[in-house]
Amino acid sequence: MILGGTSEASALAKIVAAKGLAATLSYAGRTASPKAQPLAVRIGGFGGVAGLARYLSEQRISHLIDATHPFAAQISANAVAAAKAAGVPLAALVRPPWSPVAGDRWQCVEDIPTAVAALSGPSRRVMLALGRLHLAAFAAEPQHHYLLRLVDPPTVAPPLPKHTVIVARGPFDVVGDTRLLQTHEIETVVAKNAGGTGAAAKLAAARALQRDVVLIDRPPAPQRTELTSPEAVLDWLAHGPTPLGV
Ligand code: NAP
Repeated sequence: MILGGTSEASALAKIVAAKGLAATLSYAGRTASPKAQPLAVRIGGFGGVAGLARYLSEQRISHLIDATHPFAAQISANAVAAAKAAGVPLAALVRPPWSPVAGDRWQCVEDIPTAVAALSGPSRRVMLALGRLHLAAFAAEPQHHYLLRLVDPPTVAPPLPKHTVIVARGPFDVVGDTRLLQTHEIETVVAKNAGGTGAAAKLAAARALQRDVVLIDRPPAPQRTELTSPEAVLDWLAHGPTPLGV
């Protein structure tokens, strides 16, 4: 089973399906219409560590791959604990974090509250590339005009007095993101240090236009086997550890 919700998980699903392996892709159910997949899909939480461990046993899952977002800390911790409890080998498909290059104007902060604090001061035009669940924290700095790029149209109005919503799903490209920052006269971009290619365009656009970036560091990852490509995952499936009792 692949724990997904990322472009990397979708790329892995494609390769696993092309190999004809029996696999399921799991979504949390955060978006209204997730991307169509070439594998069986299940949607929704498992009910914590115990629920996931039970699911692994009942569905006779032989290998668990955590291809979730680097900021999805809870499910990644649950995956390690549940895989151990169920005796199922686990590997994570990871991507290195982004590092600054010449021309970047990054302020790296450790979490959402410090990103909010970094915006104290006069009114600016700010792009929040964060997802709907973190928007409320920015109500503490209501003087800014916020550009919100969301996967689904919001069902409740974002709690920010001045904002513009754009509904769009990545991956994004540099030409489009450069145009977006220019059109909305964005001065500061707030983003998570996700790594990978699907969400990097806004940083390249900010660099080209000499705009400030507040970049939120990743939460620590649990100890686990980490692989950096879908091909490495296939190799691990073929030659790596087998489930307990096999
Ligand atoms: P999280 O805080 O780590 O997880 C919260 C709970 O959501 C988990 O305990 C689990 O519920 C459920 N869950 C999370 N991922 C799941 C999955 N792939 N399949 C089934 N249940 C899952 O997660 P999150 O940060 O809200 O992220 C949710 C999803 O969005 C993940 O699939 C992640 O890859 C994707 N995503 C997250 C971000 C981000 O910035 N966090 C960005 C892009 C995509 P139970 O305890 O009930 O099992």
